[in-house]
Amino acid sequence: MPEDVPALLRETLGVCRPAFGQRDTNYAVDLLRRRPDSWQDTEGNVHVDRGGASLFLAHTDTVHHEDGTQNLFVDDEGRIVSDGTCLGADDGAGLYLLHRMLEAGVPGYYLFCRGEECGSPGSTFAAKHFDWRRIRRCVAFDRANQTNVITHQFGGRCCSDGFAQALADALNAHGLFYKPDETGIFTDSANFMDVIEECTNLSVGYQNQHTACETLDWRFLLRLADACCLLDWDALPVLRDREAEKGELQDLYKARRAPVLHDNADRSDEDFDWPQGKARQKFHSDTYDNPYDDPYETWPTYTEKEEEEEEENEERTPAKELTLADLRDKPMGELEAWVESVPASAVLEAMYGIYDEAWEEAWREGREYAKK
Ligand SMILES: [Zn+2]
Repeated sequence: MPEDVPALLRETLGVCRPAFGQRDTNYAVDLLRRRPDSWQDTEGNVHVDRGGASLFLAHTDTVHHEDGTQNLFVDDEGRIVSDGTCLGADDGAGLYLLHRMLEAGVPGYYLFCRGEECGSPGSTFAAKHFDWRRIRRCVAFDRANQTNVITHQFGGRCCSDGFAQALADALNAHGLFYKPDETGIFTDSANFMDVIEECTNLSVGYQNQHTACETLDWRFLLRLADACCLLDWDALPVLRDREAEKGELQDLYKARRAPVLHDNADRSDEDFDWPQGKARQKFHSDTYDNPYDDPYETWPTYTEKEEEEEEENEERTPAKELTLADLRDKPMGELEAWVESVPASAVLEAMYGIYDEAWEEAWREGREYAKK
């Protein structure tokens, strides 16, 4: 391992942290100790508020199957690899970036999310139960490759092209090659699409994530870290027109998925045992005063008859009609037509199917690579 790989990055990548396992939990505890102004919510997320109007996200868990440590190496092309079931630069790279930005004093709200790899319970909880009205943009550092500023996730637009391009330009001014990219699938920032105007996910330099041949171009990551520390995040434009999106397909779709992912709806304030006293109770209920109108108001209201019809429809439609290959090859228009033609539950079902398929494919590739 070259001497100039930062110790913090080495430490982060050397540990396998399956979601909510002992090592994952230790990471959060260690964070609380290292950052005296940090605090933890009941879902285990660690928050550090350093002002500003930008929210920065990375997730603490990795897709390793077992808790433990692993050895790190550098491959022929100078990228970091490991002898574990994966490297875990997804999202060790994101964690490293958040620490670098904290050290550099970049204003922002830093959220270390829990459980991204098992359905994102951490960010789902955080998006719903805290007051984000001050925040205008949300950036997850959790994307493979080196050039993507994600504009679409989970079947809808998550940030405007103008914002994505401005962010790409700002990064590229520091010698990087980012551009807007609409092929996002899902990460923690998708959970904030209803409450924060501009939400994106940025490439952080890992490749083949979730597989034994995951690599990290650490020199790229260091360049990105330097750029992120110099960037004036709060100067980036906020352009996503949530009003114009209303009534559009993706809003209907988002509204329908909300009850599925937000599984805390039946808990009340009293159920939460806040670790740091009343001052931390920024909690708000479903009816909180949202500047963009109550997102729940846009849920379609059904009569009983419509509900019955819908159920019948859902029974008739085979749940999985879309494959990973479709997602890659089909033009956007055709995909939209498909989404419109089937019930929302079928869309959700297909997305889970596609996720599993992608995971299996990456896993197979990893096994083959490991055999060589
Ligand atoms: Zn990730």
